[in-house]
Amino acid sequence: MNAPRPWGAAMTEPGLPPLGADERFAIVGATIIDGTGAPPIPRGTVLIQHGQIVAAGPADEVPLPAGLATIDASGMTVLPGMMDLHAHLCFAPNLVDPLVAADEDPFAPDGYLALWGARHARILLEHGFTTVRDAFAWSGRRTSLALRDAINDGAVPGPSMVCAGYAGMTGTEVDMRMPPNVPRPYGFVADGPWPLRQRVRECVREGYEWIKTFTSGGRVVGGQEEDTWFVSHTLAEMAAIVDEAHRFGIGVMAHASTRDAVRLAVDAGVDTVEHGWPLDDELIAAMLAKGIALVPTISTYSARGFLRDGVHAPLRIRAERQYLSRAQSFRRAYEAGVIIGHGTDAYPPTPSMGAAETAFELAMCVAHGMRPMDAIVSATGGAARILGIAARVGTLQPGKAADVVAVAGDPLTDPSALETEVMIVVKGGEVAFDRRPSIQFRTPAMMLGEN
Ligand SMILES: [Zn+2]
Repeated sequence: MNAPRPWGAAMTEPGLPPLGADERFAIVGATIIDGTGAPPIPRGTVLIQHGQIVAAGPADEVPLPAGLATIDASGMTVLPGMMDLHAHLCFAPNLVDPLVAADEDPFAPDGYLALWGARHARILLEHGFTTVRDAFAWSGRRTSLALRDAINDGAVPGPSMVCAGYAGMTGTEVDMRMPPNVPRPYGFVADGPWPLRQRVRECVREGYEWIKTFTSGGRVVGGQEEDTWFVSHTLAEMAAIVDEAHRFGIGVMAHASTRDAVRLAVDAGVDTVEHGWPLDDELIAAMLAKGIALVPTISTYSARGFLRDGVHAPLRIRAERQYLSRAQSFRRAYEAGVIIGHGTDAYPPTPSMGAAETAFELAMCVAHGMRPMDAIVSATGGAARILGIAARVGTLQPGKAADVVAVAGDPLTDPSALETEVMIVVKGGEVAFDRRPSIQFRTPAMMLGEN
């Protein structure tokens, strides 16, 4: 459990320094939380060069060369850039049917979706998120890949993206959101082990690094969103998806929100269970035995998410039914030692929780019994292990990518600081965002953020 996964050498490289990130500088004066779970280091120094962390530790153990540029982060806490393991950056408002406004319009132009994605990516980066696992956009038209590449190439600011492609049968939640008589785009559905294996292979060909699938879901009937009791996929289908993905060294994330759906996902050996409720002792034991992580996404069903005023009534009603069960399942799994990954399921274009509130999930997890340090690890070092990229990012250790965030205050006593008090964001050794009041200099990313 918690060992680096074999797909650490993924096709894209979150954490590779951007071109030009060759300056050397240090962040000084802050308390360091290194993302490993180790105790905080007061008055620490983080030394950065060529986009990587050279050293991070107590000031007297990190000697600085004379004349080195420094960023004074006194009174702040410095931690690794945060990660959201479940976000949908390329969801956009629905142009066709406002009754299902939570969903991407299957007929929206790809470019429109990508532009919304660019907006959400910029907001996430400015709020301290330097890596995101994109949990796919419904129609799977490679918009997230386009956004990932545009960010990597420096065209738009945003976190490093690890993109999931979609593989799923006829009748999943994804499929049921399209009108029944509309022809499905190629690759939208696949039934049976071999067609699903082909779908996984196509996702690999297209450049995805995770597979998203659903073992349960809701259905939209006449604008009413309801949960289904049946599981999506047979065990043979799920086992085929997982086996094929692992043959290519990529992971599988399964949306599962009934007991039977979690059981199927766990039996098939997926890597992460998304949402994951209701959990009982038997399911928790199976997740522990297989080292399967839970991404609980509780905040999106909270009073800050779908229980917020103005949310489409069916979604709100569903959230009312689900919220407590979700929170209780999370707490039970956490206390039993299940690996927890920070993920929000943020649907930025809806009235529910948006990209800027991503760190709210951490505060919610703390409110439901998680130790603040564990919450931070779930969004940093632990999240990187889940993604299989812990050799390169996720902790403030020598040789890791310089993805670093400085937060005013102490997130261990007030986790909400991670949401509202992010002052400096460094990605790959470049200062992407600096909102300390004394700072006059503005990077292009910062200027984009000032609106
Ligand atoms: Zn989702």
